[in-house]
Amino acid sequence: MYLKDPLALSSRGYFPVGEAIVGGDTSVAPGPTSSRFMVVDYDATTDKVYAPTPPQRRTQYWSRGRGEYLYEFSARQGTRQEAQINAWATAVEALELFQDPVVLGREVPWAFDANWLRILPQGMYEANAFYSRRTRALHFGYFFDRDDRLIKTSLSHDIVTHETAHAILDGLRPYYLESVHPDAVAFHEYVGDVAAMLSLFRQREFIKQLVLLPVGKKDFFNLVTDLAPQVGQGLYGNADRAALRSARNDLTYARVENEPDPHVRSQVLTGLAFDVLEGVVEQRLNDTRAGEGFKFESKPQRLFAHLLAAARHAMRMLLRPIDLLPPGNITFPEYGSIVLAADNQSTPGDSRGYRKVLERALRKRGLHPDQWEYQFYIESDEPENRNLRERDIAMIRSSKVGAYRFLDANRRAFQIPTDRDVRVVAVSTNRRELDYGTLAVPETMIQYVWEERVSLPKDMRTSALDHVVMRAGGTITVDESVNLVHWANQPPTPRRLDDTRVSAMSLVRDRAIETTPVRGLINARPFLAQNDGRGGMHLMVNTARMHHPR
Ligand SMILES: [Zn+2]
Repeated sequence: MYLKDPLALSSRGYFPVGEAIVGGDTSVAPGPTSSRFMVVDYDATTDKVYAPTPPQRRTQYWSRGRGEYLYEFSARQGTRQEAQINAWATAVEALELFQDPVVLGREVPWAFDANWLRILPQGMYEANAFYSRRTRALHFGYFFDRDDRLIKTSLSHDIVTHETAHAILDGLRPYYLESVHPDAVAFHEYVGDVAAMLSLFRQREFIKQLVLLPVGKKDFFNLVTDLAPQVGQGLYGNADRAALRSARNDLTYARVENEPDPHVRSQVLTGLAFDVLEGVVEQRLNDTRAGEGFKFESKPQRLFAHLLAAARHAMRMLLRPIDLLPPGNITFPEYGSIVLAADNQSTPGDSRGYRKVLERALRKRGLHPDQWEYQFYIESDEPENRNLRERDIAMIRSSKVGAYRFLDANRRAFQIPTDRDVRVVAVSTNRRELDYGTLAVPETMIQYVWEERVSLPKDMRTSALDHVVMRAGGTITVDESVNLVHWANQPPTPRRLDDTRVSAMSLVRDRAIETTPVRGLINARPFLAQNDGRGGMHLMVNTARMHHPR
C-alpha cells in the first residue's frame, strides 16, 4: 500500500509503497473483505458496480503456536484493484492503530448496528472524501487535476486514515457529531489528522528506509506534517501548499476562540500532538539512558529505535485517553486536562521527563489546566471508593442495564439528578499493555448521558427549531475491584448550558442548520436538524461536506 501520497513521495525520491500485513482476521474474502471492512467498488457518478479483487494467493504458515493463512492481494498501478486494495489495507491499519494494546486495547465498535464498514474506493467523481454513519461507509472521490492527472483520494494514506478515524471516533463517542460546541467537530478533525501522522510510525520498513536516507531530521518531520499534498497540488497548485493544514504551527486556543472552521480550529490540537512527538523524540535522543542495554550499530539505527519508541509513547499519551473522555461533548481544555491526568496516572514519577514535554506543549497552546480559572470537569469532588455502592464488576459488565444499576445506586456520588432518565451509552473493558509487554489491570468504562433541553432566545425560535439538546453525563472508569480509576464528569452547570445556547445561536445566525430534509448532502449546510421522535430536536454534523473544498 502507499504510505504517503504517491506524488509527495515521487517528488522527493522516496520509495512509496509498503506491504501491509494485517493480523488477526479469520475471514478474508474478495473485495477485499475482512472482519470489520468490506470494499464495495460502486461509483455513484456512473452508477456502476465494479468487480472486487480476489486474494491472489493463500499460504499457510505457523504463527503464535497455530496455523494461520496469509492471503496476498496484488494489483498493477493505476487499476481499480489497486485503489480497492490500498484503501482497505490503509483502513485496516488505522483501526489497528486505535485497537493496539498500548492504545485502547480493545475492539472499537462502529456507530451503526453492523460490523462491516463499507469502503467505496472510487465512489464519486468529486474532489471529496467523507465518512457517513447513515450509509455505513467511507466514500472516496476521484477527479482530474489541472494537469489532467487522475487523482484518487483512496490512494492517499493520509486521507484514508483520516476518514477511517472519523468512523472510529464516531463509534467511540457517537454524540460528538451531535454536539453544537465548535470544539467537538474540530476534535473529530484532530483525531483524523493525528491518526494519519502517527500511523506512519507503525510501518517499521518505511521508517527504516526514511532514517537511512541522507536527509536531516527536519526533512523527515516535514514529510510527516505535509498532510495530503497530492490533493493539495491537484486542487490548489503548488503555491497554495501553505494554506493546507499543517501540524507545525503556533496556534493557541485563544486565537481560534471565534473560529467557526473546524479544520482551522483543530490545528491547535494537531500542533500540540506534533510538539509532543517532537519533544519526546528529542528527549530520547538526549537521554543517554534511553535504549540502555541495546548496542546501536549505527546512528540511523539509533534514530530508528528512538522514533518508533517515541511514536508509541505519543500514541499512548494522546490516543489512549479517548476512552476516558465524556460522552456528550468535548472541549479542548477538557481533552488537555484528561490527557494530563491519564499520564500522571500511568507514569507517576515521570523519570523520563515526558510529562514535562506534555505540560510545556499544553501551556504553549493555552490548554494546561493551570491556565483555566474553572475546572471543566469536576475532579475535586471525586467520590471515595468506600462511599460507592453495588461494587460488583460482574453485574456492571453484564449489560447496559447492569451498569445502570451501579449508576442508579450511586446517583448522589456521581451527581446524577434523581429526576433524570440516565442512560448507559456503552460499557466496555480493555486489555492494555504497559512497557515491556506487562499486562495492565483491565479497566471498565461506563459512558452515561441524560438530555437537557436548551431553548433558543425568543427572536430566534422557528417552528422547525426552537431548542437544541445538550447531553450531560460522564464516563466512569473502574478497575476489576470497582475502584474508581477516572471520572470525566459533565454536569449541566449554568455555564455549560449557556455555552450550548451561545454555540447554537451562532449556528442559527450563520445559517448553518438545515431544518428541512434535503437531497444531495454535499451541498447542504454543515448541520442537519433531526426530530428524535420524542418531541426533541437533535442536530447532527453533515459529514458529507466536512471535507468539501470551499
Ligand atoms: Zn475530517
